[in-house]
Amino acid sequence: MAAEGNTIYLDNAATTRCDPEAAQLVMQMLTREYGNPSSLHAMGFRAEQQVERARAQVAGLLKSDPKEILFTSGATESNNLAVIGGARAMRRRGSRIAVFAAEHASVLEAARHLEAEGFEVCLLPPGPDGRLSPAQAAEAVDEKTVLFCCMLVNNETGAVNDIAAIAAAVKAKNPRTLFHCDAVQGAGKLPLSLKKLPVDTLSLSGHKLYAPKGVGALFIRSRVRLLPLLYGGAQQGGLRPGTENTAHIAALGLACERAGMKMQERFEKAQQLCRIFREKILQVEGACINSPTDASPYIVNVSIPGLRSETLLHFLESRGIFVSSGSACKKGARSHVLSAMGLSPERVDSALRISFCPDNMPQDVEKAAACIAEGAATLARARR
Ligand code: PMP
Repeated sequence: MAAEGNTIYLDNAATTRCDPEAAQLVMQMLTREYGNPSSLHAMGFRAEQQVERARAQVAGLLKSDPKEILFTSGATESNNLAVIGGARAMRRRGSRIAVFAAEHASVLEAARHLEAEGFEVCLLPPGPDGRLSPAQAAEAVDEKTVLFCCMLVNNETGAVNDIAAIAAAVKAKNPRTLFHCDAVQGAGKLPLSLKKLPVDTLSLSGHKLYAPKGVGALFIRSRVRLLPLLYGGAQQGGLRPGTENTAHIAALGLACERAGMKMQERFEKAQQLCRIFREKILQVEGACINSPTDASPYIVNVSIPGLRSETLLHFLESRGIFVSSGSACKKGARSHVLSAMGLSPERVDSALRISFCPDNMPQDVEKAAACIAEGAATLARARR
């Protein structure tokens, strides 16, 4: 959603404004329907019904069965559970894991953690277009590969992987390899049908699709077994014990339902904003676009080599425009994604990520492009 007043919020891949109706539902759940879903009385039952309704809404967006949806504290937890819980459950079958090198840290670090437990991790670099090819995926899989991770949409560049083809290639090589997909930047934005997609686990996060922060979900295909990361309760089949965050879960359900209903309309708006921004930015001297041309229209990654990301980011901030330097979670670290795509260090160090939501207006992105041009000219002069 657009930011208030004179600010232009173009950092929607970092987080989104909560849908006001979802926020209202949170308030209602916290102050009126605040029962514990495990309680045996009517208030507990009503809370449980809300959780189950949300499970069906998330399943509806993913075209899966509600029984296959687990609620978590967000995609970091979902990814950790899928990677660590999946690999540990498969330990007896083998000890190899293949991971796309442009994954989010919550997948990469979880895989690295498994190295300490004796797993061998094979990192698969993206091509210059930021994507993983199905052939490359197949080549990395052998009979000992227990887990394969590939994200749907990259959070820095918006590059979209052909998950159907990649997962099919992996499964053709070894049908027992678990396939995990981080769909955080794609869920609710691109159509997904888990009835057809041959993945075993898939994660999403509430705050990327207009629900609150600190809530997420993990799709776990029926009959796929994961070992829990937490112990101490029977909630959610014991796989994710702890009292459910009922208020945020209800809001996530509502946001998923809305995302499903408005997907096409929102997508066309993002396409319009992205087209305008790309056109304008290419008129700026020295600017280059790091995202592939067929990337998700919600994300554009641009560089003005020689001008550091943070310098331009703060210049834009002074004009009321909020963007990101690479991924918000990395705070200043050089992007492993752009580096793995083979971009020069100069280009990597000047990268900015602009990410849209349907409430942004064409004039917002025009202003952002104009301010980038102004910043580039002013800051370049200052350095001479
Ligand atoms: N995966 C991707 C691709 C992301 O963009 C993010 C959020 N930056 C996460 C995982 C982590 O999600 P959360 O903030 O819900 O833990």
